[in-house]
Amino acid sequence: MWQCPKCERMFKNTNQDHYCGQITTIDEYIAAQSEAVQPLLQQVRKTIRSAAPKAAEKISWQMPTFWQGENLIHFAAFKKHISIFPGGEAVAVFAERLTAYKTSKGTIQFPRTSQLTIS
Ligand SMILES: [Zn+2]
Repeated sequence: MWQCPKCERMFKNTNQDHYCGQITTIDEYIAAQSEAVQPLLQQVRKTIRSAAPKAAEKISWQMPTFWQGENLIHFAAFKKHISIFPGGEAVAVFAERLTAYKTSKGTIQFPRTSQLTIS
């Protein structure tokens, strides 16, 4: 294992390429993820963007966030899934359409194994 002396993250390979430092934009966040998941994250971003065209992109709670007077939604990549965090109310309202997905309070999980079909 190799630890980057600047950001102190651990990597398998010495001098592993990575985004080093504080992530401040969604582009940086996505670029720091594995190549396999990047298109999925771009798809989630595009979907949210089309639903909330006036929202601003930012990083909040270390997660990509769409902001419009308040945090509308966060999303994030995890080892086996991508989560979106639209808040408890949204998850409750759309509960019937979300039965295929794992949800918990304010969160919806999309497995990374399947191509996302949200549009
Ligand atoms: Zn680093």
